[in-house]
Amino acid sequence: MQTPFPPHATALVPIEGSTQMFPVRRVYCVGRNYAAHAREMGSDPNREPPFFFCKPGDADAVIAVPAGQTGAIAYPSATHDLHHEVELVVAIGKAGSEIAVEQASDHVFGYAVGLDLTRRDLQGQMKAQGRPWEIGKAFDQSAPIGPITPRQPGAPLTHGAIALSVDGAVRQQGRLEQMIWSVDETIARLSTLFTLKPGDLIFTGTPDGVGAITRGQVLVGSIDGLSPLQVRIV
Ligand code: MN
Repeated sequence: MQTPFPPHATALVPIEGSTQMFPVRRVYCVGRNYAAHAREMGSDPNREPPFFFCKPGDADAVIAVPAGQTGAIAYPSATHDLHHEVELVVAIGKAGSEIAVEQASDHVFGYAVGLDLTRRDLQGQMKAQGRPWEIGKAFDQSAPIGPITPRQPGAPLTHGAIALSVDGAVRQQGRLEQMIWSVDETIARLSTLFTLKPGDLIFTGTPDGVGAITRGQVLVGSIDGLSPLQVRIV
């Protein structure tokens, strides 16, 4: 088939212990999935449950950083308040809709550390006006991700520390078990809204401690058991 310009590149994420790459399809994100972060954003986690939004799944938005490397992330346009949000990313390996919580882990290919980079000023403006969040969330290079560690059969990743440091200073520190919706519950809920397919990524929300970053700073995201993610803002 001929196309008037080259087909767009698919984002490819390294897989730990493999020469294969994980081809990305869509990026789903969970909002306010840790109570302390919901509160720091001015909402009451007891009254407002988590929710979903999306980022592009293309290679412009999803920046895969191989193990041991430092990814270069351009400070985005149109913001003066770029924020870090470190998140557990779940990579989907098996299609499904209306997935039962008990079956959800069968659909997980693996896990990675990701950053839900956010133009907080633009997001705030959109929130105040009741408008969609895309300009705050869905910009180029807004979804850096480290290598995917394949799920071990019978051993889903449900516990452990999640943290982010900026220039060596710890900014975010939480635990995966603090998620309001667990990974399995998130997959079950999301699959009632969209048919999940292999290649989908789910950013599962950030613990508290989000804050601004500037050019030249180095961010290291880490989750127990996973390869860390390191990026420099340029
Ligand atoms: Mn987030």
